[in-house]
Amino acid sequence: MADYTARVAPFINKTFYVTSQAGSYPDGTYHSGLDISTGTGTRGSNLYSICNGTIIQKAYNAGGYGNYIIIKDNNSNYAFLFAHMADPALKNVGDTISLGEQFGVEGATGNVTGLHTHIEMQDYVKNNNKWIMNPNDSSLWGSVYLPATDYMGFPNQLGISVIYDGTPIPPTPTPIKKQHKFPWVLYAKKIRNKPYFNNL
Ligand SMILES: [Zn+2]
Repeated sequence: MADYTARVAPFINKTFYVTSQAGSYPDGTYHSGLDISTGTGTRGSNLYSICNGTIIQKAYNAGGYGNYIIIKDNNSNYAFLFAHMADPALKNVGDTISLGEQFGVEGATGNVTGLHTHIEMQDYVKNNNKWIMNPNDSSLWGSVYLPATDYMGFPNQLGISVIYDGTPIPPTPTPIKKQHKFPWVLYAKKIRNKPYFNNL
């Protein structure tokens, strides 16, 4: 039993853990995204799109993101980066993707200590239809880099377990708030009784 049910998530019917919050690592240093994991190893669960969107970047970055993809939500201003995939994304730049359609597999490529998916979120439209690639600049947190937990509808909290059952999502919430604490959709909290994986 997971602690929370998500509004939407890249894992479907698979419990995942928040292994690092968006905005800061457990040690307090800056972290441009959110880390979630379904287990250990180098090849994990399938990753599914959290929106009806369009692929705007796909690349490999050995020292950082590993295999990653950026997807723009066609129904909101937001775009999402998913990093450390086991393989190159199943989609190419310019392709469209549907909510719940697979785009990759959770992995451990790039700069990682274990299996996880790192998710970043930006207001692509506000940023003049560009993705701002500057994940080490902590001054961009809350303005350029946003907590994807708000969009997905669960708390930005280390160690919680979450599940998404794949049902169609409610309308895209807006706006994303700088202080992230469940601005749009409230879900029932359940008993928390499981450890999380220490994958950053
Ligand atoms: Zn991360």
